[in-house]
Amino acid sequence: VTHDDIVAAARTLVRERLTVGTSGNVSARHAGRIWITPSGVDPAAMAATDIVEVDAAGSRLGESPHAPSSEVGFHVGIYGARADIGAVVHTHSPWATAVSCTRQAMPPFHYMMVGTGDGTLECAPYHPPGSPGLAHGVVTALGGRAACLLANHGVVATGRDLDAALRMAREVEMLAQQYCLTRLAGEPKLLDSGQVAELIEIFQAYGQQQEDE
Ligand SMILES: [Zn+2]
Repeated sequence: VTHDDIVAAARTLVRERLTVGTSGNVSARHAGRIWITPSGVDPAAMAATDIVEVDAAGSRLGESPHAPSSEVGFHVGIYGARADIGAVVHTHSPWATAVSCTRQAMPPFHYMMVGTGDGTLECAPYHPPGSPGLAHGVVTALGGRAACLLANHGVVATGRDLDAALRMAREVEMLAQQYCLTRLAGEPKLLDSGQVAELIEIFQAYGQQQEDE
């Protein structure tokens, strides 16, 4: 991963309308370092030299002229809690944010929900943006999953690399749209725990198959 890859990911979020202006942020871990988008820089104007390097506590290292994203707290919190995660994306994508404003988890209403890990998407309790309380709440709500919602705020998506984290951000947004539409259509009929367990096996076999290719 390079600083350019992080800039490209931040621009992808804007291009795909998962975020607007400076409201999203992106980070990646490489060889024990954490690189994150700067605070207050529009991705359209962002250069590789703007990417900020921080340590495991979120303190700035290196020579960027900028402060790290104001949400650096949950980014480093996630890396500290999850050795399997190599990239984190945060957006206010509209459908996922709409669900977050209900402060409810998204249940296993569709088989693709198993892409989160266990078929659910938890919602971290409301805390002000950039606060230690939000960072703690995000790490707890994420647990062992690939994504979570942030009450009255947005969504965090993760992956083993930037591409995987972007894929998860898109997938969560699609699922949130489908969930909102389902609730308009009627009461969702949820997958039961046996059906979710069966899907987890199918997803794991599929993931293994892709790694073998
Ligand atoms: Zn935010």
